[in-house]
Amino acid sequence: MMLKIKCPKCNTEGSFSLVESSYHGLYRCWKCRAPFTIKIENNELKSCEPLSQEEFDKQQEMKALRDKFKRHN
Ligand SMILES: [Zn+2]
Repeated sequence: MMLKIKCPKCNTEGSFSLVESSYHGLYRCWKCRAPFTIKIENNELKSCEPLSQEEFDKQQEMKALRDKFKRHN
């Protein structure tokens, strides 16, 4: 399903495709490019925390590593 997420920084609404009813991870505003950590439970946005660019890169890196690991298994 698609969930609407309003960017706390610029108030632009973006859509986020949800695979499961809960999600905890990264979201980046398509307009102002601000990175956030979002938490979704039962198709509802529970929290949206701003993330520093540095932290975002680190998380992306970790995710890439995990995906890489998965592929090699
Ligand atoms: Zn924004």
